[in-house]
Amino acid sequence: MLTNLQARDVETLVHPYTNLVAIRETGPLILERGQGVWVHDVDGKPYLEGMAGLWCTALGYNNEELVDAAATQMRKLPFTHIFGGKSHDPAIELAEKLKEMAPVPISKVFFTNSGSEANDTQMKLVWYMNNALGRPKKKKIISRMRAYHGVTIASASLTGLAGNHNDFDLPIAGVRHTTCPHYYRLAEAGESEEEFATRLAADLEALIIAEGPETVAAFIAEPVMGAGGVIVPPKTYYPKIQAVLKKYDVFFIGDEVITGFGRLGTAFGSEAMEMQPDSISIAKALSSAYQPIGAVMIPELMYEAMLTESSKLGNFGHGYTYSGHPVAAAVAVKTLEIYERERIFERVRAKIPQFDARRAALEDHPLVGEARGKGLVAGIELVADKKTKHQFDPKLGMAAKCVAFCQQEGLILRNVFGDAVTICPPLVISPAEIDELFDRLTRALDKTLDYAV
Ligand code: PLP
Repeated sequence: MLTNLQARDVETLVHPYTNLVAIRETGPLILERGQGVWVHDVDGKPYLEGMAGLWCTALGYNNEELVDAAATQMRKLPFTHIFGGKSHDPAIELAEKLKEMAPVPISKVFFTNSGSEANDTQMKLVWYMNNALGRPKKKKIISRMRAYHGVTIASASLTGLAGNHNDFDLPIAGVRHTTCPHYYRLAEAGESEEEFATRLAADLEALIIAEGPETVAAFIAEPVMGAGGVIVPPKTYYPKIQAVLKKYDVFFIGDEVITGFGRLGTAFGSEAMEMQPDSISIAKALSSAYQPIGAVMIPELMYEAMLTESSKLGNFGHGYTYSGHPVAAAVAVKTLEIYERERIFERVRAKIPQFDARRAALEDHPLVGEARGKGLVAGIELVADKKTKHQFDPKLGMAAKCVAFCQQEGLILRNVFGDAVTICPPLVISPAEIDELFDRLTRALDKTLDYAV
């Protein structure tokens, strides 16, 4: 029986990423307030937010400094755009800070409202650049199976998940997907991680050659895949991939929408993964999700090409009404200030050994095939048979069941592709709360096991 609020919800809202039929029966979980790493539903029940919302509320749920930064900016100048030569302080300061922090040389910053828009912009900028450079055929973008880059028509095409393509008539032309760097599932018998990485680089090279190197413009990758199930590539994967990209003059787009700002214990995931992208997409923890904001960090080569095109065409014809929104930018500036002042990334590094140990211990559970992760992000893959890695029938929805049991236990996690349960708590989680998270998850796994047998 739905509550009044639930009934009003299902009569009015279309929920993203939701079974639209099932929710009419169950109703949504309606949350009302947050405190630290906890959120409370309308009945006052607390839940440990083990996913930081959608991999984003890095500083937790009641950061008064961020609230004040937003309120102050709203009172001063709630909106002005940056089209046609206008500007404002918060956007300038934020771009300066991002340039300073970038893990690779960056020339300029272009602001968006989301990660999807950042990746959409990346694709347009690569095309724009290659037109400026006089190579109009070099336009294809290579992504990876199981990658997640967003849901706009372009970024959903880059995403390598069938659920984002089926019946949306995607991907669009000019997007290809190469092998997913998932050693546990895709390694051949007796293949070492190093050999696996070598094979994947060879796969990429074969694809570039088959397409024609003169048609391949860019490759896009998350340092660690998130929504595809938290896939951590083997150590030598990026150096090997990068050698191939260099050989064929293929631009490298780094998608740091999840890994940017401390998630892997470094400011950017690229640093933790030996990845050297040419440009970088960011969003989510940029503002600790207190305001919607994303960005593309643009290298000099690309910027110079943009200058050429813009002077030829008379204008750079791209931008969102809310690009660099002053309130979002002010909140992001404050977020970056807090990361630095509170030494948040250093403190994440200190928490990683405990998080790693608790994660790894889950592999002793009869349902867990692989408990993978890096930094404060993890993917727990459920299997029907640990020895053979045999998966459950997808129709059973075992990971979804486990997530539902987590919710009963007062823990919010998510289930994604391939029966994996994902964990990505706010970076400010305490050691006691890390234990609490894994204790609750273990109880939920036990209940899932009882359900399975
Ligand atoms: N890129 C990555 C790696 C993501 O994880 C996401 C969202 O989860 C996106 C892009 C899309 O971001 P948004 O949902 O803000 O459009």
